Amino acid sequence: MDMPHAEIREEVKKLCARFPGEYWRRLDAARAYPTGFVRALTEAGYLGTLIPEEYGGVGLNLAAAAAILETIHAEGCNAGAVHAQMYIMGSILRHGSPGQKQHYLPGIAAGTLRLQAFGVTEPGSGSDTAALRTFARREGDHYVVNGQKIWTSRAEHSDLMLLLARTTPREQVTKRTGGLSTFIVDMRDAAGHGMTIRPIRTMMNHNSCEVFFDNMAVPAGNLIGQEGQGFRTVLDGMNAERLLISAECVGDAKWFLRKATAYANERQVFGRPIGQNQGVQFPLARAYAQLRAAELLLREGVGQFDAGAPCGEAANLAKLLCAEASWAAAEACVQTHGGFGFAEEYDIERKFRETRLYQVAPISTNLILSYVAEHVLGLPRSY
Ligand SMILES: Cc1cc2nc3c(=O)[nH]c(=O)nc-3n(C[C@H](O)[C@H](O)[C@H](O)COP(=O)(O)OP(=O)(O)OC[C@H]3O[C@@H](n4cnc5c(N)ncnc54)[C@H](O)[C@@H]3O)c2cc1C
Repeated sequence: MDMPHAEIREEVKKLCARFPGEYWRRLDAARAYPTGFVRALTEAGYLGTLIPEEYGGVGLNLAAAAAILETIHAEGCNAGAVHAQMYIMGSILRHGSPGQKQHYLPGIAAGTLRLQAFGVTEPGSGSDTAALRTFARREGDHYVVNGQKIWTSRAEHSDLMLLLARTTPREQVTKRTGGLSTFIVDMRDAAGHGMTIRPIRTMMNHNSCEVFFDNMAVPAGNLIGQEGQGFRTVLDGMNAERLLISAECVGDAKWFLRKATAYANERQVFGRPIGQNQGVQFPLARAYAQLRAAELLLREGVGQFDAGAPCGEAANLAKLLCAEASWAAAEACVQTHGGFGFAEEYDIERKFRETRLYQVAPISTNLILSYVAEHVLGLPRSY
């Protein structure tokens, strides 16, 4: 299949070669942040891909960003520590005032300003975003924020957070998604002044955190878009996020299949390569078929996004199918490797843990199926 952005892929591949499995294994054991990898991507300009040139970015489209993230994952690296720097800024780009764009985007493009924390999920609301309770109360020229977020990834490695908070009590709004607003929180000012971060140790190295707000002051000028319209402000960016995460899943699936086929060709048991057995071949062939189908849908969604066309259906379906394809490939890869699939030095068990996330975050499989049932098939809303 012809691969768009072949040159970018080649360059990203070269960069990734500087960060081999050993690098990721060491970080995984220590649950440490891949500072060197993030610096290399920043210096190469990849994180400013989606920022227009007038703000110092590269001014490319989502297809280019998807090619970068897919390649990172196909080369055995992980973009989870950094991918949000590419797309969270979309809320400022699409909904921010000219002054906000001028203030934030050049620094984000240059990497001197890290906007990679996205505070939506709360312990009490989970998938039901409209039920979130963190409240921002207007007091003169600022808002006072109280509440808690959970699973705020990269919170310790970000200067800014895009925060979704309630500004009108739920009982007073007519639409369930109304009364929410989006803010840029300067975490450098907020740390120790009403904001506390507590890391969560997880099954993979992901740097996700709980964040607590206790009378944290946010200048009124940090409101992005209109007060009460915050759900819409972040919703736009969610399709971009789903498509880019899908690209990472495609990259993972390719990595697993490459590893598995190489091993199946080389490993001799009963006097012949294990890959000669259909019981070993078929799960790999099936995962490959899943990957190809998912990849086509991803291309469709990315094309729609870049053309400014509605892409909700394709973005959600791509996320569902790409995450399933990467999981099928991961499962087949472990099985093909037998006992060695469990040995850390093969990197498979690490990637296996990492790719499992994408059936839960940033949106779980069931919630995508609910979206398709309701918004595509026209079935009654189930929740
Ligand atoms: C490592 C990691 C990083 C994350 N990073 C971020 C981040 O940076 N920012 C952020 O805001 N959030 C983040 N999240 C949160 C993530 O988006 C949520 O975990 C995810 O949306 C699911 O929400 P939940 O965990 O509350 O599960 P719940 O909503 O409690 O759901 C639990 C299970 O029940 C199912 N379920 C719930 N309701 C229904 C229904 N009506 N019908 C059918 N099934 C249903 C779900 O599909 C799921 O399988 C992250 C999560 C993880 C694990």
